[in-house]
Amino acid sequence: MKFHDADVLIVGGGLVGCALACALRNTALQVTLVDSHPPAQSWDDATWDSRIYAISPASRRFLTQIGVWERMNANRLQTVARMRIAGDDGRAELGFTAMDAGTDELARIVESRELQRSLWQAASEAPNVTLLAPAQPTALHDEADGKLLALAHGPRLSARLIVGADGVQSWVRTQAGIEEKTTPYQQWGVVANFECEKPHLATASQWFFEDGILAFLPLAGQRMSMVWSCGELRKKELMALSPEALCQEVARAGQHRLGALKPISAAAAFPLRLMHVADLVRPGLALIGDAAHAVHPLAGQGVNLGFGDVMELARILVAEPASRCGEYLVLRRYERARRENVLLMQGVTHGLQKLFNNANPVLRVLRNTGLGLTDQWAWLKHRLIQHAMNA
Ligand SMILES: Cc1cc2nc3c(=O)[nH]c(=O)nc-3n(C[C@H](O)[C@H](O)[C@H](O)COP(=O)(O)OP(=O)(O)OC[C@H]3O[C@@H](n4cnc5c(N)ncnc54)[C@H](O)[C@@H]3O)c2cc1C
Repeated sequence: MKFHDADVLIVGGGLVGCALACALRNTALQVTLVDSHPPAQSWDDATWDSRIYAISPASRRFLTQIGVWERMNANRLQTVARMRIAGDDGRAELGFTAMDAGTDELARIVESRELQRSLWQAASEAPNVTLLAPAQPTALHDEADGKLLALAHGPRLSARLIVGADGVQSWVRTQAGIEEKTTPYQQWGVVANFECEKPHLATASQWFFEDGILAFLPLAGQRMSMVWSCGELRKKELMALSPEALCQEVARAGQHRLGALKPISAAAAFPLRLMHVADLVRPGLALIGDAAHAVHPLAGQGVNLGFGDVMELARILVAEPASRCGEYLVLRRYERARRENVLLMQGVTHGLQKLFNNANPVLRVLRNTGLGLTDQWAWLKHRLIQHAMNA
């Protein structure tokens, strides 16, 4: 049998790639993770990361199981106990609470950098995991029994399985010749954090406007994180505002629900896209996280979908002898298990985006009526909440 440097070689140590390394810790698999940029390990605690995630209860249970959740600074976490979704007629509103879902929270808000640091530290302590960063892959070759990855100024690494966890512009996916279909939303996600005059009461709020979607996520303390999905013109206007003017504009758009706002992070903007890939696996290769799919952030499910990939792939790999981890038949099980979930989430978020970001007067009536009716139909409301929480 051929000697391999690793059984599983993960390219990309973002939240999803790192989570896979942690999920495979203390198993019979030898794991190597390479990333071109090692994550920051320290920062000024007076600052807040502009990248914030709403972690679903299913993802939180997973992060607890892999020994990551308890590493995070509890003072920086915030429970979401309530959610309010408003239409654009000023009246229609859908509201639900954790109690409606029979649970103690709808989601937990975490800073990206805090979660990334905890994942990286947990992976670095695992005896069967090697972290290589910074390390820049330059070529990927097929071998009879796996893959060979060449690194700039570094060794060539052979592995039975290479996992592309290198984000939406995945180099691994390109090297493998896997086709992707990207549909830009012609929208940007503008994010920024604020201190608020009024308490958020652990409530996440979302407003569906004709030309965009505004979300306020509660942050630890009397703070809030905004995600405003909007078109190019609006994004330019928002990014050109002074911090004080941005506060006023965000407070106005959010109907002054949290009173006056003060900036605590600079605004940043990300392009939004829908992306499908032709294949999630090839012999000796699998894609996870944003390398495998991109969704609109309106449901805050991007990283949760990625953690879903990790749970499934890790479950399948550890159930097999290490020698089989790159086999196509084994990897196809992962692909079959994830395909439907990912397509469903992409379909739901895409449909909502089309329904809500539309000036058509018929659709306007439909969406506002739909929000009101859903609010009244307890059964439908319950099913929607359960689906979002377990995605
Ligand atoms: C505005 C906005 C708001 C969002 N809000 C939410 C939210 O509330 N909740 C949620 O769940 N999701 C949200 N998302 C989605 C979420 O950000 C992504 O789904 C998630 O970050 C994907 O993680 P990843 O590890 O797959 O990829 P990435 O975070 O992109 O990580 C990729 C890693 O690979 C490394 N890398 C890249 N190329 C190479 C290479 N060639 N060689 C080596 N290493 C490489 C990078 O350095 C990086 O570390 C949001 C997205 C946007 C745009």
